[in-house]
Amino acid sequence: MNVLGRAVRRTGTRILTRGIANAADGLLERDVVIVGGGPVGLALAGALGACPNLTICRTALTRAAGASGSARDALSIALVEASDLSKASAWSPPPEFSNRVVTLTNTSRSFFEQFGAWEFLRQDRINPVDEIQAWDGISDSRIGFTGPPSDFDGGISPMSWVTEVLNIQHGLLACLRSQGHVELLDKLKVQSITRDSQSEDGWPLVHLSDGRILRARLLVGADGFNSPVRVFSGIESYGWDYDRRGIVATLHHVPKTESLFSKANTTAYQRFLPTGPIAFLPLSSTMSSMVWSVPPHLAAVLQAAEPQAVAHIANAAFRLPELSLRYMYQLLLDGHQSGVPPTAETILNELKWREEMHSIEPHSSFSATQDPELLVGIPPDDSHLVPPLVTSIQPGTVASFPLRFQHADAYVGPARANRTCLIGDAAHTMNPLAGQGLNIGLADAEALSRAIKHAVSAGGDVGALTTLLPYARERYTANHVMLSGVDKLHKLYAATSPPLVAVRSAGLEVVNEFSSIKDIIMMAAGSQPAITPQAHLGWNAVAQVVETAAGAASLGTALVRGISDRMQAAIWAPPRA
Ligand SMILES: Cc1cc2nc3c(=O)[nH]c(=O)nc-3n(C[C@H](O)[C@H](O)[C@H](O)COP(=O)(O)OP(=O)(O)OC[C@H]3O[C@@H](n4cnc5c(N)ncnc54)[C@H](O)[C@@H]3O)c2cc1C
Repeated sequence: MNVLGRAVRRTGTRILTRGIANAADGLLERDVVIVGGGPVGLALAGALGACPNLTICRTALTRAAGASGSARDALSIALVEASDLSKASAWSPPPEFSNRVVTLTNTSRSFFEQFGAWEFLRQDRINPVDEIQAWDGISDSRIGFTGPPSDFDGGISPMSWVTEVLNIQHGLLACLRSQGHVELLDKLKVQSITRDSQSEDGWPLVHLSDGRILRARLLVGADGFNSPVRVFSGIESYGWDYDRRGIVATLHHVPKTESLFSKANTTAYQRFLPTGPIAFLPLSSTMSSMVWSVPPHLAAVLQAAEPQAVAHIANAAFRLPELSLRYMYQLLLDGHQSGVPPTAETILNELKWREEMHSIEPHSSFSATQDPELLVGIPPDDSHLVPPLVTSIQPGTVASFPLRFQHADAYVGPARANRTCLIGDAAHTMNPLAGQGLNIGLADAEALSRAIKHAVSAGGDVGALTTLLPYARERYTANHVMLSGVDKLHKLYAATSPPLVAVRSAGLEVVNEFSSIKDIIMMAAGSQPAITPQAHLGWNAVAQVVETAAGAASLGTALVRGISDRMQAAIWAPPRA
């Protein structure tokens, strides 16, 4: 949409007169400026753009300017994005899937439905998840979750939805186009943000790479991990690097379709290995997405490896005992270091030998070396415990992302940077092991849009602290509980000490036996379609279970250490005279 065109339509108010008057020197005024056209920024724009009747009172300003015109004016919203959004806009899905895939919870879906965006997503590129199988990489203790019962056929309802980030952006952009209320300024970088010294409370001035300046009544940072808005606002954040990278890839596998003996490809799998979890997210009957957290040196080797070798290793990572898996990593690392990486065939042969050593039946579901051609007929009873066998990796889809924890100290700018707030990854970045980063970002967008609508319809100022505080109050604690719960899970599963493994496995098995606890966890993870601000309480429960297990485990470790110290002391104690 043309910026000047929009300004002309709003002639008659002082603000717009000033906007036009200053268009020549590049100054334009907007009520809401969103920086960041990632899924979270686009979702906020869509939620606000869905309310064309949202008007803002300019009476006082209009009177002061002595101009004629309407006393109330539609909320003007601009979204600035550095990249070219036309690519996501024009996205026409190829037969293959891209490697940036996320799970959307029912809560996120419900938010999209509220402002009419869900129908714009390509439905044939959204795959339901009605079951999760997660297990301990060392002890094999397992927990299974299934979705809520379906009201219609007595079956199971999906608990989440797997789709490409591109599909989400494409759908949101189509939704914004259909609304026609949000100004999209893409291929423009925010170069700096300053304060307007002429206004009483210093409105933010957003300087774009084409020289234009947006004067914002409210500036929203949806600008990701390195958020320029967060930096401008002087909001501190705390966090750490996990010393892990998330390897992603699109997997081709043996078909998994609904039949008398098996269900469709609607189960997500996650094995918690000490190096980091490996997750399998179903996309279609023959394709799925992998997210595998590994230390950076291993990530570099996996990225450089022959794709077929990665396919074999991925199969092994879901099946092989951890001890042998560690050997396989070493094989890859040594080969990489010597300049002669192992071929896919070498890896397959090594795996076959290791499976023999572990007495893994060649035709069992836990064999990573089966011949896919022979996988016909009735599948073994335990086939639902592991994902279908990967046959190849889609070329060009192996990539990796740094995994970090970061939480801003506040979501609303302090007095010296008022009229600013943060949402999505700009406010918080988390380990992807629970598949919640985007979902909590979307919950931010939902809560902020609700706070804005509430304040503006009551005649409030969209950028005032009183407008923004309810958003921050609602989301900060909820996100904090989620972030710390997931961080604890990461730490708990990275540990290899036997007492800790024993305690966490016992904890997992106990939780697995209690469907009520699992229901709370699933509700907290957004499996229920309703948007419940209290849902984070469930995560509190998860965090507490994990913390208790970790506490018990460290107590166990301390006890074991204490006993062994005493034994050693007894053994080495000098003989009594
Ligand atoms: C491997 C991996 C797997 C994941 N899986 C899941 C999952 O299953 N489920 C889930 O919920 N989450 C998942 N996440 C997390 C999720 O991807 C992020 O939380 C989400 O993409 C954040 O969206 P966002 O819109 O807040 O930020 P971003 O997507 O980072 O968007 C920020 C935007 O701001 C723009 N920008 C930045 N600076 C400027 C500037 N100066 N000027 C203009 N524009 C600017 C950028 O170009 C970018 O488009 C995963 C993450 C990783 C790494």
